[in-house]
Amino acid sequence: MAGSHLTIGVLALQGDVREHELVLDGLGVSHRHVRIPTDLVGIDGLIIPGGESSVIDKLSRIFDVRDPLISAIAGGLPVLGTCAGLILLASTVIGAIDGQQTFGGLDIEVERNAFGGQVESFETSIDMPVIAGGPVMAAFIRAPLIRDVRGCSVIATLPNGEIVGVRSGNCVGIAFHPELVAESRVHEWWLDAVVAGAQR
Ligand code: GLN
Repeated sequence: MAGSHLTIGVLALQGDVREHELVLDGLGVSHRHVRIPTDLVGIDGLIIPGGESSVIDKLSRIFDVRDPLISAIAGGLPVLGTCAGLILLASTVIGAIDGQQTFGGLDIEVERNAFGGQVESFETSIDMPVIAGGPVMAAFIRAPLIRDVRGCSVIATLPNGEIVGVRSGNCVGIAFHPELVAESRVHEWWLDAVVAGAQR
């Protein structure tokens, strides 16, 4: 498998860090927590998990990892942001709390909590043509929607056409959680096409 020689960082400030690590374990890929700037040294890619984007934003400033993260992403570090992680990569956020900031990387507009609250969470299969083997299972939990993709490529859509995944160079953002529904093909694709691809 393409990822076996890689070390992937998982931003471990808040959110479903463990579930991403379990997917990486299943794929035989080494990983480490990223909490402070030195944790970024030597990683081949970074996963920003789902959780609460405003909390991850605040903690990134408290741990002084925000500016190094922004530089690493702008410098080409391959990144996968899921749900809150997608919000943290977006240039514009609709429904942000006062003072909420993002790391940037994807020039898109996302709307937080676009499907409603926790009780409106759902699982469905989505269309993701970059992934072989048919529709991808996905959990949407207080998920955002991508309202404007500007220069980014659309990589995932709901059956009604709404945009739930984009890529721009080294940055991939998805509005859903494949890691909660035993769907490892998204990580596999990201490791191969984006992380290993950056090294070829
Ligand atoms: N609604 C959350 C936020 O705005 C995201 C939810 C999630 O990551 N599952 O950060």
